[in-house]
Amino acid sequence: MAPVGPGAIVVVGAGLAAASAVGELRRREFDGRIVLIGEEPLPPYERPPLSKEYLRGERDLGSVLVRPASWYGEQGVETRFGTRAVALDVRSREVVLADGERVEFDRALVATGARNRRLPIPGLDLDGVLDLRTAPDADRIREAAGRGSRACVVGMGFIGAEVAASLRTMGLDVAALDVFGVPLERALGPEVGRAIDSLHREHGVELHMGSPVAAIEGTGGRARAVTNERGDRVACDFVVVGLGVRPNVEPVEGSGIEVDDGILVDAHLETTAPGVFAAGDVARHRHPLFGPVRVEHYDNAIRMGVAAAAGILGEREPFADPHWFWSDQYEANLQVVGVASEWDRLVIRGSVEERSFVAFSLSAGRLVMAAGVNRGRDVRRAKKLIGREADAEALADEGTDLRELAGV
Ligand SMILES: Cc1cc2nc3c(=O)[nH]c(=O)nc-3n(C[C@H](O)[C@H](O)[C@H](O)COP(=O)(O)OP(=O)(O)OC[C@H]3O[C@@H](n4cnc5c(N)ncnc54)[C@H](O)[C@@H]3O)c2cc1C
Repeated sequence: MAPVGPGAIVVVGAGLAAASAVGELRRREFDGRIVLIGEEPLPPYERPPLSKEYLRGERDLGSVLVRPASWYGEQGVETRFGTRAVALDVRSREVVLADGERVEFDRALVATGARNRRLPIPGLDLDGVLDLRTAPDADRIREAAGRGSRACVVGMGFIGAEVAASLRTMGLDVAALDVFGVPLERALGPEVGRAIDSLHREHGVELHMGSPVAAIEGTGGRARAVTNERGDRVACDFVVVGLGVRPNVEPVEGSGIEVDDGILVDAHLETTAPGVFAAGDVARHRHPLFGPVRVEHYDNAIRMGVAAAAGILGEREPFADPHWFWSDQYEANLQVVGVASEWDRLVIRGSVEERSFVAFSLSAGRLVMAAGVNRGRDVRRAKKLIGREADAEALADEGTDLRELAGV
């Protein structure tokens, strides 16, 4: 692969997608200038352990780094950690940093990820109301768990459900509230959600589902209880809020690059400004199977980072990954492939009661998503079936080898 001439590549946002892209650029023997700009003071690290092993104190920070801190210097990557990029000037081809410095680029990658959404809930600013995106956030939750004995989790999406599971595993009393009837319902539907609901209840989480949170109440400036609109009041020592994320699009605002719930990228991950790419949680890409989609998961960040690096170096392969992710809660491993917000048929393979099943979501006869609990192998095998017409009975039949259905 021919390098991009003498030009420099600037990568904005030093998270997983950025680190994957930088690694891929060097792997493809691009030996020009690479500047990696990240707001956090740390080198790129993996976030999944923050709600799991790292939160529980089973892994340290060094073990969650994407690459050893020394790798960047060894590879001649200029790093500006602890530095916020405030603008991207596509005409002068410069990234503007918070201190006014301008870094020239020939090609740029924006991989600024996402930040936690803040809903207008009264009491959100009280002491003891925490959320989780970064390693210091996880440290704060672990410290609060060391001081208090009763936690309240607001929002039972992936982050809330994982935090609830970790805090229970650490021995805390945990209550959780959500507007949906069951955990993970927004992402995976009520059927899979019910299995996760019973999982948490069996582990002793007090669930207050199906009513929006009304307020966080405090005394002396500290959170002491959470209420919902139904009138439930849950006393606690601290609160962890997990209500989804918003893409960090600020550096490209005003640049002319199109933004719509994320930075819009084409099938090659290029934004509407030629030579400027976006990847990871911040990128909303035109997927050949799912249409415009913004995915907020680990594997996608890695694959998009790698694909964006290839695109930056001139490769024109469309990004068509079927998307896979996982979540760990207690002893349950959840894996999902595909993307769907609605479907017209759901078929179950296995046993929901025994928490060993895959839920296949079909839309107009095509498989759009497979979500499995303790069925990682089946889910990975279903990857090749995503977007294809599939026989519902065959999917449900435990005797059918999914590899054969996929023709592999
Ligand atoms: C607690 C937690 C647990 C998770 N668990 C799972 C899991 O089990 N499975 C799974 O598939 N996914 C999981 N995820 C999701 C996964 O971690 C993300 O999808 C992934 O981190 C996205 O990578 P990214 O590089 O796009 O963004 P990020 O990891 O968010 O990195 C973006 C970086 O850019 C920086 N930045 C933002 N704006 C600027 C700016 N203006 N200038 C400079 N830098 C900037 C940010 O500070 C950040 O460091 C989890 C996420 C969290 C938070």
